[in-house]
Amino acid sequence: MTFERFHLDPSLLLGVRDMGYREPTTIQERTIPAVMRGTDVIGVAQTGTGKTAAFLLPILDRLLKGPPQTTRALIISPTRELAIQIDEMRLGLSYHTPLSGCVVYGGADILPQVRALKGGADIVTATPGRLLDHMWHGLPKLEKIEVLVLDEADRLLDMGFLPDVEMILRRLPEQRQNLLFSATMPPEIERLAQRMMHDPETIAVGPRSQPVDTVRQELFQVEAQDKTRLLLRLLEGDDMRSVLVFSGTKAGADRVHADLQRKGIESCVIHSNRSQQERFTSLQTFRQGRARVLVATDVAARGLDIDGISHVINFDVPRAAEDYVHRIGRTARAGEKGHAITLATPCEARAVAAIERLIKARIPRNGALGGRPEAQQRGAGAPKRGRGRGGRPPGRRTRR
Ligand code: AMP
Repeated sequence: MTFERFHLDPSLLLGVRDMGYREPTTIQERTIPAVMRGTDVIGVAQTGTGKTAAFLLPILDRLLKGPPQTTRALIISPTRELAIQIDEMRLGLSYHTPLSGCVVYGGADILPQVRALKGGADIVTATPGRLLDHMWHGLPKLEKIEVLVLDEADRLLDMGFLPDVEMILRRLPEQRQNLLFSATMPPEIERLAQRMMHDPETIAVGPRSQPVDTVRQELFQVEAQDKTRLLLRLLEGDDMRSVLVFSGTKAGADRVHADLQRKGIESCVIHSNRSQQERFTSLQTFRQGRARVLVATDVAARGLDIDGISHVINFDVPRAAEDYVHRIGRTARAGEKGHAITLATPCEARAVAAIERLIKARIPRNGALGGRPEAQQRGAGAPKRGRGRGGRPPGRRTRR
């Protein structure tokens, strides 16, 4: 299937071409026609599925057909980073159109945002708190809003934004199209959807359960107290250019970050207890290559589109098997080769087994650098912590 089949405005097809999209993703194939028909849509989809373009393209198409310089679409995002990403994609897709947009979020100078809102941006992307600040001052003008998007609704809930969202909803025209995207559908979000939507169509796209085959995976079996030492050894590798380290907890992420910094490794950290400004700075530092390592939790990393990651290291094995696929999908983007390394203690063996069931493959064990090799796990009577004996040398490529 091609994008031409949607009968989008030709200027948008130029944007699609510029973005390098050759064919629609599953969520796009199903969502774009529904939104173009004017239906309310609940999209159950994670980041990485192409959901942003799935709602942006039909919205932009609709905006092209109406009066310009009036705010007619509002997108609400839980975080500043996601709001910026959405607006960047809006800019890319609408590059060949006269449509304008602006992004408003907290922790930034309010005046440029006021100027952009006063100019009547066609499409406004906002975080809830800052949008409310503007709304108290009569901006943006909401009476002409035709389409509302709640993106990552489950994260809006997790971050305590639902009361703000409800307040915003009360100020919007009754007659509008509603689109709600969420990776999961907790009961609070189901209820919100029932209240705000009219006969919605639910489009669910399952999380990818198979890692891309250009990711080389390996697993080191270590004791908990040896993880930091092993991480430091791994980071000595010449090819460790841009490394995303996942920690299961916010405190753990801070600890790993502090340990790396103590050893002189440029790293930054991102999790939901850090302020918007800190998270933004960390992300920029990492994106611009001024830090080689970004330590993140799953929640903070969700929704972030970071290219060029050479390695993903799971400092902790993710508790939800799907998160493993999601985490390692951060590397090997756009057909590049990537490398995913998991550090697992004996206590994490069950989580590893669940991942292997999901991906229908065994993650190759690496016995080098203090990891326990294959033979020892099978109870071959080898000593408890072998140092490289019998293990594969690091760097061996595994393809399934
Ligand atoms: P999203 O799930 O919206 O965060 O999108 C994830 C990534 O997929 C972004 O980098 C998009 O630019 C990219 N993307 C979206 N749609 C397509 C497509 N049809 N073909 C290739 N890449 C896409």
